[in-house]
Amino acid sequence: MRTQVGIVGAGPAGLMLSHLLHLEGIASVVLEARSRAEIESTIRAGVLEQGTVDLLERTGVGARMRREGAVHHGINLRFDGRTHRIDLRGLTGGRSIMLYAQHEVIKDLVEARLEAGGEIHFQVEAVRVEGITGTTPRIRFREQDREREIDCAFVAGCDGFHGVCRPLIPQAARRELQHVYPFGWFGILASAPPSSAELIYARHERGFALVSTRSPQIQRLYFQCDPDDDESRWTDARIWQELHARLENLEGWRLTEGPILQKGIVALRSFMVEPMQHGRLFLAGDAAHIVPATGAKGLNLAVADVLVLSRALAAFFASGGSELLEGYSATCLRRAWRAQRFSRWMTALTHRDEADDAFTRQLQLAELEYLTSSRAASTALAENYVGLPME
Ligand SMILES: Cc1cc2nc3c(=O)[nH]c(=O)nc-3n(C[C@H](O)[C@H](O)[C@H](O)COP(=O)(O)OP(=O)(O)OC[C@H]3O[C@@H](n4cnc5c(N)ncnc54)[C@H](O)[C@@H]3O)c2cc1C
Repeated sequence: MRTQVGIVGAGPAGLMLSHLLHLEGIASVVLEARSRAEIESTIRAGVLEQGTVDLLERTGVGARMRREGAVHHGINLRFDGRTHRIDLRGLTGGRSIMLYAQHEVIKDLVEARLEAGGEIHFQVEAVRVEGITGTTPRIRFREQDREREIDCAFVAGCDGFHGVCRPLIPQAARRELQHVYPFGWFGILASAPPSSAELIYARHERGFALVSTRSPQIQRLYFQCDPDDDESRWTDARIWQELHARLENLEGWRLTEGPILQKGIVALRSFMVEPMQHGRLFLAGDAAHIVPATGAKGLNLAVADVLVLSRALAAFFASGGSELLEGYSATCLRRAWRAQRFSRWMTALTHRDEADDAFTRQLQLAELEYLTSSRAASTALAENYVGLPME
């Protein structure tokens, strides 16, 4: 097998890259370890930045999102017994966010690729990538117990945090930086109508909680927990009790309960690898960086990376020019570091860290007070939340 770009991983990064390359007339093959049904049903992110929404629409994969997703023009910060709305649209000159689940984006992209005759191999595991410093790297993979290989001009490592591509950058040429937080998020999916028209980020003495949504029927709720906690220790009744306690039934508002369909704990982590490229290998999305979910940036960063990569590859295949490819890592890292800064700041603003003393906790409240009373400070939050302009 031969193709121009071999893509490892059919997450948002790999599928969007394949789609963008197709629009540029560049052939690609996507290799995905999991089944189509699995990637189309794994619950993950759900907040799309304005730039991601615009890109999906501009490239012809936004129709269902526009119909079924929910545009949110603001978010709420709840602390110290009150709720303060941040007017995203008003503070950013009309930019907003879209609530549309990651697995729905995946479904739309898979359908678009397959309809256009795109090649996605499901349930095949890329086991080895060779020759990335030469001109024809080769990906070896296993398909139904058969070893196969694909020669390509470039390899895109879109295989997530635990993938095989990042370690291909030699240790001496790679710098990894990370911060692990002393807390995780307990997330549930509940079958219930939305409790709130817009997201609620709650800072509470018991710890952080977030009211989000996935559809008019399915709600996504989180609360800060010990990352090593065992989810089986949490009965449904105890989960609701904790959420009620942290969200408080303020000003007539009440959290709507419903049957819990799914629950799980994710650890919060910040991770970066520098550079994001080596020879003809280019990393994108979670393979290169992880942000704590507080800023809702993970999926959006993956999309921003592959937009940069698709343009660089298009320039290369059109004229042989490699300037954009050479600048790929620097371009993406600039955006990723800003997303790291914002995600960490949002985390510190809203979470309870047991290592903090009373003084630090009071400062956290002072920061929230300032943020919600200053237009300049609210604007800084809003412009980061809806997403900085894509390069
Ligand atoms: C449990 C969870 C909850 C999350 N919640 C949020 C959230 O609420 N908000 C938010 O903004 N972000 C969230 N994120 C982050 C967000 O989902 C990711 O940033 C996003 O999925 C990144 O897309 P990606 O394409 O880079 O990687 P992924 O989506 O991880 O896709 C990588 C793909 O590569 C495949 N793969 C791996 N190794 C191989 C191999 N050797 N061969 C072939 N295929 C391979 C995997 O099966 C996977 O399908 C969450 C992440 C997790 C894990």
